[in-house]
Amino acid sequence: MIHRCPADLPDHDATPLPDDAVIAVDGPAGSGKSTTARALAERFGLLYIDTGAMYRSLTLAALRNGIAPDDGPALATLLDGVRLELKTAEGGVGVFWEGRDVSGDIRSAAVDAAVSRVASHDEVRRDMVQRQQVLGRRGGVVMEGRDIGSVVFPLATAKIFLGASLEARVERRYRQIRQRGEEASREQLATDLAERDRLDSERATSPLIISPDAIVIDSSEMSLAQQNEACARACLVNTSLDHELDADKATALLEIPWHYRLAYTVFRGLARFYGQREVGNGGNALPRGVVVAVNHVSFWDPPLVGATFYRHPVHTLAKEELFRPNWFLGRILRGIDSIPIRRRGYDKEAFTAAEAYLTAGHNLLIFPEGTRRAVGNPGPVKNGLGILIQATRAPLLTIYLRGSYGRQPGGSLESPMEARFGPIIRWHALDVLLEELTPKEVSRRIGDLCEAAWRELMERSYVDHPRTAFERQLGEKQGHTFRARQERLFGVEEAAADS
Ligand code: C5P
Repeated sequence: MIHRCPADLPDHDATPLPDDAVIAVDGPAGSGKSTTARALAERFGLLYIDTGAMYRSLTLAALRNGIAPDDGPALATLLDGVRLELKTAEGGVGVFWEGRDVSGDIRSAAVDAAVSRVASHDEVRRDMVQRQQVLGRRGGVVMEGRDIGSVVFPLATAKIFLGASLEARVERRYRQIRQRGEEASREQLATDLAERDRLDSERATSPLIISPDAIVIDSSEMSLAQQNEACARACLVNTSLDHELDADKATALLEIPWHYRLAYTVFRGLARFYGQREVGNGGNALPRGVVVAVNHVSFWDPPLVGATFYRHPVHTLAKEELFRPNWFLGRILRGIDSIPIRRRGYDKEAFTAAEAYLTAGHNLLIFPEGTRRAVGNPGPVKNGLGILIQATRAPLLTIYLRGSYGRQPGGSLESPMEARFGPIIRWHALDVLLEELTPKEVSRRIGDLCEAAWRELMERSYVDHPRTAFERQLGEKQGHTFRARQERLFGVEEAAADS
């Protein structure tokens, strides 16, 4: 695995972290994550959460109760409803299982040997991820683990992937153990770490991966002080780029051509009429050349989301059927420079036009699922999003639209309407990933991140306004009928691959 440390990391004194910052630190065993995550917590005044300790506590309890590390259902039952707490204690963070301090016992060799198998079960991870999200959702945390940036907090303020060569990691572990006055063998440590890497990276549910927006830092040749400094700066990369955005927001309105202004005024009126809330649309500041990815459930989505961009002309990719020459709608779409796209297969012409818009600094609105999907169940994202991003390196803004389905004929008004904005995602790890993966695999990873981002926005929306019975029922009902439409649009093969 190749790791890099970006040379142009910002000075950590220049921009403060926001109060609700979430810093995700992922990486393989022994890369120094814990030490650095603790240092970051101290430096920025954040709460430190060690998710490995949570999996370790479950492993310890399983060993004590005679439950095999491969018995997923029994492990899930053992974990169900247990009080598992991380509390600041003397000398660091203490881990408590049903009120009992297990901080020391979870570091034993027996736990080391079994934990990756315990952590591989779907049902265990679902429970743990939910606990971790509850712990961190209010922000002000640095969370360390394997899947924090990819699954637990896909919208983290900063994601760090901290790696180091196997030799460097073995040497660090060896010294740690010897310092405790215990015996260790380098060969054995190398075998154990490599096996844990393998189990963590190859498991089906939320494996250890580099999220395409993570800042990858290779600490093999770094001192601890250098490692901490590089990570502290990495925490501020996105924040300082966002800061620059705010500076030029004021001029944007004047640059907008009159026909966009007209269209947005109409759309905004429509959104207001429907009572659509906008959440997280930080003053409508956008970088130039950004891809805006929105989930799609209703044909009202394009105007409703367009209404949120009154300061920024946003071109859109729209299905070619909407452009038929005599259609009034076709005229409007051409008027705001929309690009017609054939939905089946790969429409090269449409993608070339989209890339040209993005590289010229225009923003592009797309519905990357390729068609409308069931309410409350966004995704899967098709490869087109990843192809566009790899070709242009355009940053991504994800928006989760809720409630638009209720506005169309046959819909119901029983769901709150909202456009919820994610932070701007920048592709720091793209080059590193392209050295290891095929472009198609990288596209998949970009698509997965987009989906994870929508889901997190959706969950946050449910926290503010609980999911209604109507939304739940509709989602279930649509799940079945949409499969048939998928097959009609994309062909049986592509539809099967999607579901
Ligand atoms: O970080 P630590 O070495 O304490 O983690 C122990 C094990 O827990 C890891 O090897 C991994 O199998 C599992 N783990 C995980 N997901 C996390 C954190 C830890 O699967 N977020």
